[in-house]
Amino acid sequence: MALAFDEYGRPFIILKEQEQKTRLRGIEAQKANISAGKAVARILRTSLGPKGMDKMLQSPDGDVTITNDGATILEQMDVDNQIAKLMVELSRSQDYEIGDGTTGVVVMAGALLEQAERLLERGIHPIRIAEGYEMASRIAVEHLDHIAQNVNRCKRPLAEISVKAVLSVADLERKDVNLDLIKVEGKVGGKLEDTELVYGITVDKDMSHSQMPKKIEDAKIAILTCPFEPPKPKTKHKVDIDTVEKFQTLRQQEQKYFDDMVQKCKDVGATLVICQWGFDDEANHLLMHRNLPAVRWVGGGRIVPRFQELTPEKLGRMASFVFDDALGNKMMIEEIKRSIHDALCVARNLIRNNSIVYGGGSAEISCSIAVEAAADKYPGVEQYAIRAFADALDSVSIALAENSGLQPIETLSAVKSQQIKENNPHFGIDCNDVGTNDMREQNVFETLIGKQQQILLATQVVKMILKIDDVISPSDY
Ligand code: ADP
Repeated sequence: MALAFDEYGRPFIILKEQEQKTRLRGIEAQKANISAGKAVARILRTSLGPKGMDKMLQSPDGDVTITNDGATILEQMDVDNQIAKLMVELSRSQDYEIGDGTTGVVVMAGALLEQAERLLERGIHPIRIAEGYEMASRIAVEHLDHIAQNVNRCKRPLAEISVKAVLSVADLERKDVNLDLIKVEGKVGGKLEDTELVYGITVDKDMSHSQMPKKIEDAKIAILTCPFEPPKPKTKHKVDIDTVEKFQTLRQQEQKYFDDMVQKCKDVGATLVICQWGFDDEANHLLMHRNLPAVRWVGGGRIVPRFQELTPEKLGRMASFVFDDALGNKMMIEEIKRSIHDALCVARNLIRNNSIVYGGGSAEISCSIAVEAAADKYPGVEQYAIRAFADALDSVSIALAENSGLQPIETLSAVKSQQIKENNPHFGIDCNDVGTNDMREQNVFETLIGKQQQILLATQVVKMILKIDDVISPSDY
């Protein structure tokens, strides 16, 4: 099995087992399928956690994406294996239902597959493994309920923005949030810290004249769907201009007409005009001269269709109106947008259910201890699968430690014994070398429903893979 790249730079997986045979049965089928699933998980493993590596992916039309978001990596990979596709679906389901934890869910499934492979080699029937995994997943999910806490507070600015955005559109009575009401708009240029929350709308346009102000406090906005310029003589009307005087009179009339329009806007108190149409250089110059900032060619608005209807009540209001035309990195913006999407999802999930568990692998380690302890109570073969499940839960912490440059096994065993000794489920992997293992102190947490969903979804997909004992490729027909 190998990871290769096609001519567009997209990674794909070559499975030697399947290259040679077109039909696989029984244990051979399971082994081949496990290999495919593990291969996908291995790609994502190095992206897990705050020190996770980025992947660079190139689409067929040359667009480059740099990301460490599991769902995005898998989305853009051209996977040509049915089992590998199931893993992609797994990440997508987590994304769809929770919006976060898309890498972790695949890493967990990969670890469950790896453990299953060992059990198969020891002669344990795949159905018994599937049953043991099912029991273990229930123990883990229940244990998460026990160690969960209620919280409603975030510190980092992006998290705060996400929480504020979600709260401002949340339906607290129904305990739900329609994320479609929040628009994440990326603007090239500036820094991550420049990210801001706008209550209302954003219009991604520049002022019609470069010397108009870029920031208007407490703007009152007239949104026009009628043209905002002097009337143009229509071709079907004939205008006789035979003297310079007549021409000048006409021009003056035109200017007066436009001046009246500008005055009308000012009279009602507008400090900014947004127009659906363009206006010519002369109109633009006059607007600049009369001190009325304007934005042209803005689609969609339907507020004031005729000048006669312009009244103070029809003006839009906004705390401030800022125009920013700096340039920067588009790829970085896309990655920040994905992070905000994740943060929005976490904030939404906390409204649906405000329970959290601590991150950095601490919740998984605590579950692992609980599952391991429960295994002794099962006399049958399932206990091996239950123990294997406990080991698989440790793989998240191992990956986090590895990705942060720590000794994985030493770190895991130290943290685990600390959890047992102090009977405290908050110890995890200190990825950022903060100096404490206590994830509660570090404020690293994940939503309870997100973590439970990861365990449930990973178990379901692995059970599904284990139950396939016949792989028939199309070439058999
Ligand atoms: P996913 O797509 O699964 O959310 P991430 O790359 O975001 O993957 O990594 C999430 C994992 O990293 C979780 O296990 C989370 O608890 C852990 N994590 C995130 N931030 C920290 C941190 N500062 N210290 C330790 N672990 C962290």
